[in-house]
Amino acid sequence: MKKYNLAILGATGAVGQEMLKVLEERNFPVNELKLLASKRSAGTFMEFKGKKYEIEEAKETSFENIHVVLCAAENDISKKLSPAAVKAGAVVIDNSSAYRLDDDVPLVVPEVNGEDVKKHKGIIANPNCSTTIAVTAINELNKYSKIKRMIVTTFQAVSGAGVNGIRELDKQIKDISEGKEVEIKTFSYQIAYNAIPQIGSFDEMGYSQEEMKLQNEGRKILHNPDLKVNCTCVRVPIYRSHSESITIETEEEITPEKARELLSKAEGVKLVDDLENNRYPMPLDTSDQDLIYVGRIRKDISCDKSLVLWCCGDQIRKGAATNAVQIAEVLVKENLI
Ligand code: NAP
Repeated sequence: MKKYNLAILGATGAVGQEMLKVLEERNFPVNELKLLASKRSAGTFMEFKGKKYEIEEAKETSFENIHVVLCAAENDISKKLSPAAVKAGAVVIDNSSAYRLDDDVPLVVPEVNGEDVKKHKGIIANPNCSTTIAVTAINELNKYSKIKRMIVTTFQAVSGAGVNGIRELDKQIKDISEGKEVEIKTFSYQIAYNAIPQIGSFDEMGYSQEEMKLQNEGRKILHNPDLKVNCTCVRVPIYRSHSESITIETEEEITPEKARELLSKAEGVKLVDDLENNRYPMPLDTSDQDLIYVGRIRKDISCDKSLVLWCCGDQIRKGAATNAVQIAEVLVKENLI
């Protein structure tokens, strides 16, 4: 089997570390592996398949002979380095939002629109993590009857803000338990024992950046430019796995029974909907695995042709690292690298 030279840009971060795990678990055919991060991490080591790899400082010249770059860095780093990687002949699978809405960049969740990978011109974007979780959850319902409108409330884990988010919750819990003053760096307010209804800056209408991603990216992934999404995104003191309450309005009615039937066979989804036994998705159950759990499916009593559901998914894995590796697998399968 052909093997590929891979670079992970941002290997030391929350998503980058998980990418290494996912590549190993899924036995991706890796030949050479290059781990790139900032100058701060250069010279330190990470492990892949029992072998130690030295982290290198990411530079425009880092991508010679690389087939695929898994980018797990922020927008500015991706904007600076992805074009250099493409110029050197690599395909970049980017987790930042830098290129997601560009016309010539496919935005892909393999279970939903894997075919779009074929249109790539060097860069393929991974969607925002809440968007990936939502579109995976509703994909089969949307195929059965087109979704016209979605109302979404997200409950987003601190690891969505990277390693600094995890450290901040850790430290605040410890400091509070020791009676010390709380230090706030990553989030706008104390996140321990709190819920913050702001992720990113607000626009003139009062929506946060994160809230608009679900509509803009959802439209592109589902090939539905008329999709209307109204979203409220909330950061909660949970380490890992985002949860979402989703109401969908469809062209034709989907009964809760039909929805359960469709979701029980949906790719990337696990139906957990057993009210008699109080079973429904929860972030603790969905962490460190790849499926989006869906449950609490019920008719919307306030609107016809409308359904309510609750879903949870590990946003570092399916919302970022696993989705990126799945895209790389599509590239391999379709002979696109
Ligand atoms: P993170 O934990 O803060 O990691 C950031 C990574 O970028 C680190 O490896 C860091 O290296 C590297 N970096 C920083 N400055 C750099 C520079 N000048 N040159 C090269 N590398 C540099 O962030 P993350 O949560 O993993 O997120 C990575 C990307 O994925 C972001 O675009 C984020 O929006 C996106 N994303 C994250 C999630 C999530 O759940 N966390 C989900 C979906 C998408 P050092 O360790 O050396 O600083």
